Amino acid sequence: MGDCHSFGADERTQLVNTTLSSFRQGLYLGGDFRIAKVLVRNYPVYIALRSEWGFFDENFSDLAKRIVEMERAFWPDYRYTFFLVSAIPTGGAEFSSVGGTSLENAFALFLSPRTQIKDLRFLLTHELLHQWNTRQFGNLQEPEQLLYWWSEGITDFYTHRLLLRNGLFTPQEFLKTYNEALRNYTQSKVRNAPNSRIETDFRKNAEVGRLPYLRGMLFATKLDYAIRDASKSQYSLDDVMRDLLKSAQRNEKAGVKIITPKRFDADILMSHIERRLGRSYSDEFDRYIEQGETIELAATISALVSNVATCHSGPMKPGLIAGPQPRLKKSSVSSLKALPIKRV
Ligand SMILES: [Zn+2]
Repeated sequence: MGDCHSFGADERTQLVNTTLSSFRQGLYLGGDFRIAKVLVRNYPVYIALRSEWGFFDENFSDLAKRIVEMERAFWPDYRYTFFLVSAIPTGGAEFSSVGGTSLENAFALFLSPRTQIKDLRFLLTHELLHQWNTRQFGNLQEPEQLLYWWSEGITDFYTHRLLLRNGLFTPQEFLKTYNEALRNYTQSKVRNAPNSRIETDFRKNAEVGRLPYLRGMLFATKLDYAIRDASKSQYSLDDVMRDLLKSAQRNEKAGVKIITPKRFDADILMSHIERRLGRSYSDEFDRYIEQGETIELAATISALVSNVATCHSGPMKPGLIAGPQPRLKKSSVSSLKALPIKRV
């Protein structure tokens, strides 16, 4: 039992040296929490749980440790000397909702008591990714809803990718959730809504609220393929992500963070994308993100999904290949299947 927060655990008095905005975005817990500590590269990650769950505390701690390790390795970024993950029960036993929010050196999960450990992989990975995308990159330019396609959609893209690469998703699980996203996008009544609609209706309309996740994820899929194709596989979207982090860290070292808060906007993104792609991607951004044109995946989906799927670094078992190239029809979206291995 104990208290803990974004800057320490179980300390009676503590001096915290941070900015006011970081302090405000901290997580502060008190009460009957069970506190556990795991180490990632010798630095502590605290786990704070309360109430009863459909899993053992140790299973949660193991999963959190594994996901923290895999994400820090992706960037790579090991500057964190302290981190806190909490889970608080919400709703009755009949609910199966999960949710979370990324905070300073921490994230907080709000889970139904019946949540299973396998249901947490996507949520934990997604929420932790927000520590970088876009927390490290800077404050989203207002109105921030216009950048949700990036902050949420690219985060969902990398959630899929990292879970697969690190063996936390089987190829079949990867395809199943990817297919669900494709299906939801295809069937969305607001699929062609302009980005400006997300600004006005993100919280008013559930389908609009879901749109930036789906649109951004498919845009990332297309963009990643474009970068690989143009660079003959020398670069990928991974390089853009790491460039963004390096650029933000350079600014931080130069004191930019202290003088003016870092700002993150579409122009910054486009310039980093152009650097790795070798050409501007502004036309595609305007068509698919700003105007809401349908992101057609028919021509390249086989290679796109297989490219992502074959990034899986584990032993090559029966692998992945997309089925017949799906067009945007209900029946064909689910045609991506796990088949005997064929590298593309
Ligand atoms: Zn998110």
